[in-house]
Amino acid sequence: MLAAVAVGGAAGAVALMRWRLWSSGVPDVDPAPLKDWFSPAELTRSREYRRGIWTMAVVGIPLAALAAIGVALIGGRWRPGVVRIARGRPWAAGLIFGVGLSLVTFLVSLPLGIARYAWGRDYGIITQGFAGWLADVGKGLGIQLLISAVLGAGAAVLIARAPRLWWLAMAGVVGAFIYLSSLLSPVLIEPLFQRTEPLRDPALSAQILDLAKRAGVSADDVKVNDASARTTAPNAYVSGLGDSRHIVLFDTLLRDFPPDQVRMVVAHELAHVERRHVLKGSTWGAVLAIPGLLLVFAAVGWRTGYAKAGRDADGTNLVLRRLAIAAASAAVITTLATPLANWVSRAYEREADWRGLQLSHDPSADIALQQGLTERGLGVPDPPEAIQVWFGTHPTSLERIALALRYGSREP
Ligand SMILES: [Zn+2]
Repeated sequence: MLAAVAVGGAAGAVALMRWRLWSSGVPDVDPAPLKDWFSPAELTRSREYRRGIWTMAVVGIPLAALAAIGVALIGGRWRPGVVRIARGRPWAAGLIFGVGLSLVTFLVSLPLGIARYAWGRDYGIITQGFAGWLADVGKGLGIQLLISAVLGAGAAVLIARAPRLWWLAMAGVVGAFIYLSSLLSPVLIEPLFQRTEPLRDPALSAQILDLAKRAGVSADDVKVNDASARTTAPNAYVSGLGDSRHIVLFDTLLRDFPPDQVRMVVAHELAHVERRHVLKGSTWGAVLAIPGLLLVFAAVGWRTGYAKAGRDADGTNLVLRRLAIAAASAAVITTLATPLANWVSRAYEREADWRGLQLSHDPSADIALQQGLTERGLGVPDPPEAIQVWFGTHPTSLERIALALRYGSREP
């Protein structure tokens, strides 16, 4: 019954946010015909590259969930040792579990990570040396371990003390964590992986200020990073909330694209800011954490009941068992929610494209931009439907071109 309530609640929440937090005013268009905008011969190499990337992505889908399920299934072997090392304290046991599961998940997915790196080096799209790449992987792991330690310890204490309400408290923790990481990522996380500096091009800066005025947002914070140290692919993004918000342009974009196309990218990013996509995206995550954790709670209750755990070593052993089942079911749910997250992402990207066109009035620059992004990013304009549904954070290039064409046909 709990699981049914959770699934029903999730469906209700999705319907509500689809209604209140969705994109608006974007016309529905069919993808543009491939042959009009791309030459098949030019795409041969990109298709080869992407086939490898997609294969690795598909193989990678179930890994985290399988690792967590495996760890939970062999719990009888590791739980007594963890309880002993933690001297029976739930927070310490949870911390060890969080760090341990994170390490296992990391090791299980490391071979794929190395394969992806090698594949990207082979095709020349990754320019970063192995040592630098490994350092970034290490930093990512460090952050992951820190977060898992805190979440593991917190979850264990909540499971031990509030056997019927820990899921709700945990949903609060996860929600707060989502907003906090959106807020703090530009300050705490991004500087660990890249250097940014203010945009120096005065002509472009003036154009950006003009666009920003039209969008009604402040653009003091357009920065340029050192992406070329890692990749040849062009990109840009907006992150942060409120005062921490900033737009970052890859230096590869400024290096390889003409000013009218860079301006188009900035218009798209400003549209994300204007329409508060970071805040809305965080809200999707924070709201869905509530039914998600209720479903986790149902899975835990199904396997271990709802009785309060004692304050002795046996009690901590039960807490650990519940924690492992919670982590495994959370991993399964998060994995299955990937298409949902990308469905939301594509809607916001489509809205940013459309609004960006309204701000810049330059559909031909947008079309040339989409062609250039695809070519230089070794993209494929017509990915298989299933790949787009699972992994597509943006509309396909052909959809984006079609949107620009629709805008162009409306312009006088
Ligand atoms: Zn975007």
